Amino acid sequence: MKFLSEYRDAQVVEELINDIRLVVTRPWTIMEVCGGQTHSLVKNGIMEMLPREITMVHGPGCPVCVTPLGIIDEAIYLAENKNVILCSFGDMLRVPGSKKSLLEVKAMGADVRIVYSPLEAVTLAQNNPDKEIVFFAVGFETTAPANGLSVVQAHKLGVKNYSILASHVLVPPAMEAILSDPETRIDSFLAAGHVCTIMGTEEYDPIVEKYKVPIVVTGFEPVDLLQGILMAVIQLEKGVARLENQYARVVQREGNRLAQNTINEVFEVSDRTWRGIGEIPMSGYEVKNEYKAYNARTKFNLNLESVPENAECISGAIMKGLKKPVQCPNFGTKCNPEHPLGAPMVSSEGACAAYYHYSNSTVVEENV
Ligand code: SF4
Repeated sequence: MKFLSEYRDAQVVEELINDIRLVVTRPWTIMEVCGGQTHSLVKNGIMEMLPREITMVHGPGCPVCVTPLGIIDEAIYLAENKNVILCSFGDMLRVPGSKKSLLEVKAMGADVRIVYSPLEAVTLAQNNPDKEIVFFAVGFETTAPANGLSVVQAHKLGVKNYSILASHVLVPPAMEAILSDPETRIDSFLAAGHVCTIMGTEEYDPIVEKYKVPIVVTGFEPVDLLQGILMAVIQLEKGVARLENQYARVVQREGNRLAQNTINEVFEVSDRTWRGIGEIPMSGYEVKNEYKAYNARTKFNLNLESVPENAECISGAIMKGLKKPVQCPNFGTKCNPEHPLGAPMVSSEGACAAYYHYSNSTVVEENV
């Protein structure tokens, strides 16, 4: 447990909380970008331990939550094709589309399979030459290298019955969209450590410069998060804005060039619609024309009409830091993990799921 237990050390946590108390003098709103960070904050009771001046709000860093209804409907449409085996990571299955979820079409006989790696789906394609295998490639920059690699691998092996339905989104354009929104007021960001492991930290410099907002690249354990918050508060109290790296044990400034090369080989940056937020220019990856034979949208000529979001779900306001899950009138009542109205209630990185499973919502509510 070395390198993990030390980042969960109760005494270090207490010292960091005290350090934050000593530094903070005014109210600050800090957004943790990643859903994994949200879960760690809620699960470990960190928000209740912070001084009242600090308000943590939860960003759009849950890829399942931001996958728009239209793309889930595309996956369902493909899964209903008798010649298709649709492969996906597990937490996409319960996410509601406009009429049903992948789990519901699976229950009705569609061949939907949970895989743990896109390369597993390539092997499935090799073993089922009479079927079309589609991998539902959802995620941020973190999962794009493995998904891209599956396309390169299928191409090298001459596997022609494999394609991906890409729903990749990028973190920096989403942070800019939130900062540009006149409704939002975010004083500082904790950037997602695992995304920076792949992409490095250079692309955050222009955001710090343009919006004068401190950004601290942060890990996921309680000590990581509290160090990140402390670093952000020190900057805010001094009135400076810099990019800092709390997660230096993992994140290099230049990121992982090999992984970036794989992304650049297969994908190009494109406009993308974010569920609950809307279209953000140049905020996603789409499969390049050179690999269009592996793009499920081209292969199956997908052109479904876009559908409106469920008006009962306020996930967009939550992911922009305007609301907390407990402020949703449907939280825990009409919307729960068994009957979700929105993806944040069922995704392993969703803010609503974190509050539902781990929070003492009455305590968290006091901080809202
Ligand atoms: S509680 Fe349910 S309906 Fe409300 S924002 Fe979360 S997912 Fe949407």
